[in-house]
Amino acid sequence: MRKVLVSTLEKKLKTWQKRLKLDSWNIKIVYRHCGKNNAARVEYCEPVEKTAIVAICPTYYNRKGYNVSWTIDSLIVHELLHIEMWKEVEALPTAVKSRKKFQEFEEYLCDRYAKIIVDMNKRRS
Ligand SMILES: [Zn+2]
Repeated sequence: MRKVLVSTLEKKLKTWQKRLKLDSWNIKIVYRHCGKNNAARVEYCEPVEKTAIVAICPTYYNRKGYNVSWTIDSLIVHELLHIEMWKEVEALPTAVKSRKKFQEFEEYLCDRYAKIIVDMNKRRS
């Protein structure tokens, strides 16, 4: 996958927001470095005001050994799933949500369902 234009990111975000019924949210998408091991992340999320910022790492795909099965669509859907769960996750006790096992589980769910959702939409169109 090559880096795409910001306007393409914005268009894809709007499409997936609609499909995932998150179109009442005000979500911004930006290119920004996301730390050593992340291709993307939710940089900011305020569920009450329904505002969020999704960051996509501009250089992630230039690295050696990146995960080729990840498209920009699956990255966006993955982050939208985090946004969907944000309020519930935040409400959990710190002892639970700070546990590595729990964080890995959340990542597993977002990865798995992002791929399923993107695949289902490929077959439909
Ligand atoms: Zn994630």
